[in-house]
This record gives sequence, structure tokens and C-alpha cells, in this order.
Amino acid sequence: MAMTAVAPRSGPFIGGEWVHGEGEVIDVENPATGEHIGSVSSATIEQVDAAVAAARQAFDQWRRVSVLERVHLCRRAFEICTERNEEIIQTISREVGKTVRQSRSEMERGTAEHFRRAAEDVLRHSGKVLPSTMDYTTAKKVLVIDQPVGVVAAVSPWNFPVDIAAIPIIYGLALGCTAVWKPSEYAPLCAQLFAEVLHDAGFPPGTFNVVHGRGDVGQALVRHPDVGAVVFTGSVETGEGVAREAGLRNRVLELGGNGPQIVLADADIDRASDAAIRGCFYLAGQCCTAAERLLVHESIKDRFMEALVERTKQLRVGDPMSEETDMGPLCTPAVLERTREHIEDAESKGARVVYGGKHDGQFHEPTILDGITSDMLIAQKETFGPVAPIMTFRDLEEAISIANETQYGLTASVFTQSLHDAWYVAEELQHGTVHVNESTNYWDQLAPFGGMKKSGAGRELSSWIIDALTETKQISFDVTRGEEGDASVPKMT
Ligand code: NDP
Repeated sequence: MAMTAVAPRSGPFIGGEWVHGEGEVIDVENPATGEHIGSVSSATIEQVDAAVAAARQAFDQWRRVSVLERVHLCRRAFEICTERNEEIIQTISREVGKTVRQSRSEMERGTAEHFRRAAEDVLRHSGKVLPSTMDYTTAKKVLVIDQPVGVVAAVSPWNFPVDIAAIPIIYGLALGCTAVWKPSEYAPLCAQLFAEVLHDAGFPPGTFNVVHGRGDVGQALVRHPDVGAVVFTGSVETGEGVAREAGLRNRVLELGGNGPQIVLADADIDRASDAAIRGCFYLAGQCCTAAERLLVHESIKDRFMEALVERTKQLRVGDPMSEETDMGPLCTPAVLERTREHIEDAESKGARVVYGGKHDGQFHEPTILDGITSDMLIAQKETFGPVAPIMTFRDLEEAISIANETQYGLTASVFTQSLHDAWYVAEELQHGTVHVNESTNYWDQLAPFGGMKKSGAGRELSSWIIDALTETKQISFDVTRGEEGDASVPKMT
């Protein structure tokens, strides 16, 4: 139910104009205070169709615009985004409960980096000329070019509400694609601000569109036949349906995880426990790359636990708008409920709460659990809350086997002084990213990011997303002189 009138510019953005969403009104609450902070109007399925039609129509012109001009507009958008950074940062924190320091990092390290990289990567992106294997002379050449795929459907979650969507949108626009974005229903206000940035930068009408709404709006978008590529980030459960809807189209699916941090017997315990704090409690555990299991060699568990408890005690939980705060609230009631369920399930099967364990409204204490075993929900499913579940292992093979035993395969880390063990474990882990002596919540903006097993398909971050947003085409040229061509080339084989 609407609680306030929907402000102008708070509906879908279609064909270069803000329109009134004919679907339901979504009210946004600050998870830290429960205060109502804004509303947006959702698109109907017909409005999703209109957004895709606008993007499809704009594509025919936009793909022909010079790459210099497209990149110039991306750079202009970056300038405007930088001018409005603080407003966007504050909105992210009020909307999803991220601490302002974390929202700043999302904008200044994540989003800003995508703008910078897209301009550089797309200008340098070029095709190839190959010699033909079917010709014994130099008369035949094969040209390989990448062409923009068309309309990109970007569907994003609430935990990095601008950063994640910015990758396919900015790269897509720079490459000559057009885009339709379905932001999370929990983070539509910062999406509006980002839409304003792109609008004010002067991208032509229809090149970029936003449709607010819940899952049905996302579903209508990803199944639309005029969409050329689907870039979806969200849970495994939703992602499996999206994969079916996307079918044979280009797609990137960035899904959930249950990342292991492995601490071998020779690890630097201070370093490993610092990394576990970041891995388990950054953004109150609501990261796809969170360390959801700490696998610690049995010989060092007590020392590691002591170091972890000491560090956890230092964390300041509270108002996300304060620069001092380390951990804000959980964003949604569903995440709180799942965190509680996983802790209670673990306790009922013999685990022990060593630190924390309680919650006050949406604020959950950073919680350390000992005695975790593979039969517990917390060891098999994604919790997405501020928990540090500790499991032990006896040798390298057992550590690898536990680390690989879930359906997920997004990010893992291993702590050791041994180059041999680090290398061996990294090769054996079925995870798209493996960090050595670094937290699972470390993101390198230049490296390919994506999941194995049910954690997803495809890779993104910087130029790695270009594959999904383009179609590679070969064009062969016969440059033989004369009417008959080269007699040495077989005409039929
Ligand atoms: P969800 O899967 O619930 O939602 C993701 C997006 O999909 C939202 O915009 C959602 O809309 C939309 N959606 C829901 N149903 C459908 C549908 N049937 N078709 C198309 N779109 C749909 O994820 P959350 O928003 O809860 O985000 C948390 C999840 O995202 C975690 O599992 C986390 O691990 C994962 N994630 C993965 C990352 C990665 O890079 N691998 C990065 C960040 C998060 P609505 O908001 O209205 O529900």
C-alpha cells in the first residue's frame, strides 16, 4: 500500500522520460530505523514491453554512433556521478543499511572504476585478421569483429545496488548496446539517482531505461524475445529460473555462494583472523563472496578462535550513517529470519555460540559458532548474515573435500606459508575465485569474476564482460585478382 505520494522521477524511465508506473507502488523503508524514506511506482508488463521496444528502437541508431562519442558520454556521466556521489552514498546507506564507509567504497572503488575501465577497454577493444586455413595463398583473409548484442537486460540485487548494475549498463552503452535495468525492490531510490546521472549525461532517449518492480517485472524483462543479453545477479533460486528464461541468449549469471576460508596449520593466524573478520562481517555478512565457513586445521583452532573473538569484540555495530560504524542492520526481514534459522539449526545439531548470537530488530550481533558439521544448514546453504561458523579438518585432502561439498562455487581463500600447498589447494577448489592469504571479500576490479557449479555462469568485471555483450562475427574476404581466382585453391572438397 502506498504511504506517500510518489514523487516525480520516481517511476519507470522509458524512452528518455520518467513515466508513471501503472503497477503497484513500492514503499522503501530504512532497515536501521523502520522509517519510510520514499516510494516508486512499478512498471506493468506492458511497460516492460515498452521499455524493451524503446531500447530496441534506440539500438539501431546507437550502434552506429562513433565509439568516441559513446565513450565521451560515459565520461560525462562519470563526472556527473562524481558530483552527486555523496547524495548517492547517503541514499544507498539509508535504503539498504550499508555503512556509509561501505557505500562510499561501492561508489568510489566499484562504480567509478567501471566508468574508467569501460572507457579504456572499449576504446582498445578491436577485432582480428586471420589467415584463412582453407587457402594456400595469401589471397584469403578472415576478419573477426565483435558487434554489440542489442538490448541488455540487467537485473540486480540490493547488496551492491549501483555497482553491480553499473557493469553491464556502462560497458553495454560504451559498446553500442542499449539497456533496460530492473533494480531490486529494496533499492529503487539509488537506482533513480543513477538513472538521473545517465539522463543528465545526455544519452539519447531509449538507450537506457529503468523498470521498477518485483520478481514478475524482472521475469517479463529477461524472457522478452527482443532482449539480446541477460546479465543477472541474485540468488541461486531466482537465477535458475532466469537461466531457463534466457535460454540460448548471451547471459551472465552471478549467483550466491557459501565460500570457505581454509586456514592451514602453518598459517599466519593474525592475518587469517583479520581476513575472517572482513570475510564474515563486511556488510553484516551480506556479500555473495562472504566467508560462510571457516575451515581451520584442528591443531590451531583454539589459537585462531581466540584471535577471532578478540577482533570481533572490536566491531562497532549500529547506525550505518555514522562514519565510526563497522556493521549496520540486515537489509531485509527475510535475511534476518534465515540467519536465525541457520544459527538455531546449528545449535540444535550440537554447535556452540562462542560469541554474539542475539539480535535486536534488524541488527544482528556478529556471531561466532564452533563445532559446525556438514549436516548443518549453515554449512550447506548461503546464510548471508553476520556469522563465522568454524569447522575443523585433519589434512589437506579433507579441507579440500569439505570446501567443495556444497552446491556453490563462487569464492574461496586459503591461508598458508607453503607455496606448494597454496598452489595445490587453489587448483583443487571448485570455485571461480581463489585468494591466497587474502579475505574472500577481496575484489580485484581487473580480474574475471564469476561462479562455478550453481554459483553462476559467465564472467564479468572490466573487459571480461565484453564477451557477453557482443556477438563475434567472422567475415571472410577473397582478394584474389582475376576472374577465375587462384587455381591452387580447391573449389569443392
Ligand atoms: P534475488 O535473487 O532475490 O533477487 C535478485 C533480483 O532478481 C532482484 O532485482 C529481484 O527482484 C529479481 N527477481 C526476482 N525474481 C525474479 C524472476 N523470476 N525473474 C527475474 N528477476 C527476478 O536476490 P537478492 O536481491 O536477495 O540478492 C541476494 C543474492 O544475490 C544472494 O544470493 C547473493 O549471494 C547474490 N549476489 C551474487 C553476487 C555475485 O556477483 N555472484 C553479487 C551480489 C549478490 P526483487 O528485488 O523485487 O525481488
